Amino acid sequence: MTTSEGYSIKLPLSCPLVINGEEGAATGGKQFTRENPADTRQVATVAAQGSLEDVQSAIDASRTAFDSNTGNWIYNYKLREQVLFRTAQLIRENAQRLAQVVSLEVGMPIRQATPHVAVAADIFEFYGGLAGKLYGESFTLPNGSMINLVKEPIGVVGLITPWNFPLTQTARKLAPALAAGCTVVIKPASYTPAAAYELVKLMHQTAIPKGVVNLAPGPGVVVGAEIVNSKKVDKISFTGETGTGKDIAARAAREVKRVSLELGGKAPYVIFDDADVEAAARAAIFGMFRNAGQACGATTRLLVQEGIHQRFLNRVVELTRKLEVGAPTRPSTDMGPLVSRSQERVVQDFIKYGLDTGFDLVTGGHKLRGNGFDNGYYVEPTIFDGVDNASKLGQEEIFGPVVAVTSFKDENEAVELANAVDFGLVAGVWSSNYPRAMRVARRIRAGTVWIWDNYAQPVEGIWGGYKQSGIGRELGYYGLEDFMEVKQIFTDGTGLAMKPSYGQVIKE
Ligand code: NAD
Repeated sequence: MTTSEGYSIKLPLSCPLVINGEEGAATGGKQFTRENPADTRQVATVAAQGSLEDVQSAIDASRTAFDSNTGNWIYNYKLREQVLFRTAQLIRENAQRLAQVVSLEVGMPIRQATPHVAVAADIFEFYGGLAGKLYGESFTLPNGSMINLVKEPIGVVGLITPWNFPLTQTARKLAPALAAGCTVVIKPASYTPAAAYELVKLMHQTAIPKGVVNLAPGPGVVVGAEIVNSKKVDKISFTGETGTGKDIAARAAREVKRVSLELGGKAPYVIFDDADVEAAARAAIFGMFRNAGQACGATTRLLVQEGIHQRFLNRVVELTRKLEVGAPTRPSTDMGPLVSRSQERVVQDFIKYGLDTGFDLVTGGHKLRGNGFDNGYYVEPTIFDGVDNASKLGQEEIFGPVVAVTSFKDENEAVELANAVDFGLVAGVWSSNYPRAMRVARRIRAGTVWIWDNYAQPVEGIWGGYKQSGIGRELGYYGLEDFMEVKQIFTDGTGLAMKPSYGQVIKE
């Protein structure tokens, strides 16, 4: 097996700083590299390692662009519409390249990276359509005075993104922020800087005014932290680990900075005795092993009713064993490598924990070796049965291809188990009894519950978490509201110089 063949892009990729429309090196020329996770002998990307000074310049550029209303950005919704639609078009025109960049940096099979790019284009198009529809509200009081509620952009926004779906994660923040009239500083994840840069580079082929979109690659603790701490930034839109999110929320609170957080998950997938086994099993596989399970909404806990347990598990295991693990470039590959050595270790530690605890390993469990696997972070798709939901395997986010299976007796126990975690991002329910499926969907405390499907994320819908999975919502109209303030403009309609209320202070 070869892992670097099959990409037509020239390596290494790059990611400079982009400040006020200009690309540049970091202070002192510092750089960092990103390896190819499928073949670590190869450098995928060389990126500028932004310093404190660099990120401050990016923030300043964004602040100046907003405060000067550059190009009438805040009010000219037609310009914003045009920029967003054009970006969608450019993404589609460059889809093959973008898919390869994502596939390379993440280790995502090209079959998954390609639709991932298409979704990013859809997101820009959707918010392009909303940019000119930011209607406010108006209300007339009995005395003729008028309340106007107008929507305004929040201002300068820091977009701090993770590596697992780099293009759509960025698009889900960037497109609505721009539709609202904000200016931004993007801090991409250090495993995937080129994916973010490729997008910014395309945007600079549109009519976007300079300084509206700035890109600051570099370490989270330097670049990300400054974006969070800076008084010049009005809002943080963060996607990443729950621990990082808690820290960001605490620091942002010092300035009463607006924060939206898309954090971790531990998605339950509830299968009742009367479920369509074939459909549920296929949907489970998709949720469990898409992007090697490195997804916040990954199906991580299969909660299966006792009567169907063995039949369902047999089918899931059968499908799992057929998955082709291999080079992301190969069109037939179903699952690629993990993103990094540290992620591989985390996954292996969870597998060891499952074995040591005595859970029943029904398939997988090994790091793949030989046959070209040695230079990449390949781990088998792994399923443990008989898992205690209260154990580490049932509670903690693994972010890898390791799934816990647990039995339940009845509806109440299913809901109890589904909710017995700190997270509440997504869940799935399978039952042929629709009223029951709906009842359970209502009782599960999660931002999205799928009935008869898995991992459907239409841009028209929403994405976001209950409990420790986050604050705020992305996608849809809610995703736009997260980047807007609402202002009341009150206009007197009485024409009176001495209004009745003034009598509380003025006698005549
Ligand atoms: P991470 O928290 O390690 O990093 C996310 C981003 O934050 C990166 O750009 C990183 O450089 C930056 N960062 C790190 N420390 C920082 C700090 N102190 N201040 C400011 N920024 C900092 O997460 P990750 O490993 O990149 O992503 C995986 C995590 O993301 C998983 O937990 C996953 O569940 C979560 N995730 C959630 C969603 C969602 O929509 N809820 C989507 C995708 C991923």
